Amino acid sequence: MHNLPSMPLAVKLPLLLVLALLLPCGAQAAPMLPHEPHQRLDTSSPAHARDVALTLDACGGTYDRDVITALVRLKVPATIFVTRRWLDANPVATRELLAHPELFEIENHGSAHVPAVVGGSVFGMRGPRDVAGIEKEVLGGAQAISRAGSQPSTWFRGAGAAYDAQGEQCIARLGYQIAGFSLNADDGATLGAAAVARRLQRVQPGDIVIAHMNRPASGTAEGIAAALPELLARNFRFVKLSQAAGVQPVNSGRSTR
Ligand SMILES: [Zn+2]
Repeated sequence: MHNLPSMPLAVKLPLLLVLALLLPCGAQAAPMLPHEPHQRLDTSSPAHARDVALTLDACGGTYDRDVITALVRLKVPATIFVTRRWLDANPVATRELLAHPELFEIENHGSAHVPAVVGGSVFGMRGPRDVAGIEKEVLGGAQAISRAGSQPSTWFRGAGAAYDAQGEQCIARLGYQIAGFSLNADDGATLGAAAVARRLQRVQPGDIVIAHMNRPASGTAEGIAAALPELLARNFRFVKLSQAAGVQPVNSGRSTR
């Protein structure tokens, strides 16, 4: 090997090809890009024809009470994805959510907001080194939700809402359904109120909306409060994911990150 660089090209290229084929499987493979599942609600039956699901993530951080206040005032239900980290840091907010079981269901956003991609990253967040790290994330979130006194969770949304094949398999094996989305209302709580309201005005029957309730300084609460009355006037029926007729995969979301 030490004299490989001095070989004629006609000899060197076939030799390099043979060496590449002899390397262990996957040793040089680029990591698979995480998959961001997009889903819509099943609106095929008349009873569910106007269904829309609002999903709110609490990744970490604090409590955007104005989001919840607006939903309580307008009687709009939502599915709320919380991490163990958020539950531990926000016990008062947790009690406020649990005080409205008719409106809010609490679902699993993991333990420490580590994405479900082995050895990869999503939006700069590093995934675990092995699949055991994903299992720890899913089970840690589930245990925290039970400890908080909520119903056992059945839906899982990983940090960054993207997954690799190992992550998807692990989540399914643990009995969870992955919650995707079709309309991103706040780009991770980075948009101003007017932009959030404009995104929400695009809602169509069957949309699963993703937004956040952990960054009170963002425009999310004001945007949601501004847009919801018009959406209610358009006769959309907001449902929790558990109330929907089902979810179906779609090829792409209309407004993705
Ligand atoms: Zn998150």
